[in-house]
Amino acid sequence: MPELQALAEGLDRVLSGRRVESATVWQPATLKSTDPALSDLAGEKVERVWRRGKLVGIDAGDLSLVMHLMQAGRLGLTRRKTGRPGKAACLDLNVEGGLLLRLRELSTERRAKAHVLERTATAEHPMLATLGPEPVGLVPGGWQAGLASPAARLHTALRDGHRVAGIGRCYANEIMWAAQMAPYARTDRLPEEAWPRLAAAADAVLTQALERARERISTDLPNKERRVTAVHGHYGEPCLRCGTTLARVSFVDYELAYCPSCQTDGKVYADRRMSRLLK
Ligand SMILES: [Zn+2]
Repeated sequence: MPELQALAEGLDRVLSGRRVESATVWQPATLKSTDPALSDLAGEKVERVWRRGKLVGIDAGDLSLVMHLMQAGRLGLTRRKTGRPGKAACLDLNVEGGLLLRLRELSTERRAKAHVLERTATAEHPMLATLGPEPVGLVPGGWQAGLASPAARLHTALRDGHRVAGIGRCYANEIMWAAQMAPYARTDRLPEEAWPRLAAAADAVLTQALERARERISTDLPNKERRVTAVHGHYGEPCLRCGTTLARVSFVDYELAYCPSCQTDGKVYADRRMSRLLK
């Protein structure tokens, strides 16, 4: 959320009021809608760039271009370039003033998605209609309503955008550490006092991260993925709160990082990938 929010704010400042001159799809697999066409954006004036959950949207005329960057997608603004771009390029918007907004994907998996929608239909599109509430400012009861049912492990529930929108793997780790909560805790068994703690921790972590992302984005478009974290990506280093060595559990595409002293009462979770490697 924080990096995407700062990116959307930065793009909004630069692009709003400028006309889209042309639009090009370089990777047909990225564009998930056919009608309206991406080229229909040509001639429309950008009114607003917004973020909701992990989606970034550009409203122009009666249309919205809504993008989900997934893990490897990058949205960058540069001076216009000529010639055919490299393989990473997914789609381009040439914008008035010699600007180029390019969606790239730094992976051959092609998971980034773009949709061109009628603006009046955007809110009802399943991508947006099924999203949970935004996390910043969400009251403890809102967290409980989103996470407690159906029951799940806390780290899984936090990353589920249908429960609460926009928290990725990194900030899930950071929020659980800040709240001193066990990643494997079951969300239906959390004590009442846990919810205000979670709400406060999420506010603190995400607000601070947003401020840092805003400072960077003001001078550094496109978005660079540098983050200042307390626990995410710091496996094996001392906990900043208590000095205990941080532990992790590796999943196929996700690494859970936590402090066994501050969060799990000393319990160290089995790391299956690690056990497999040791056999
Ligand atoms: Zn600790």
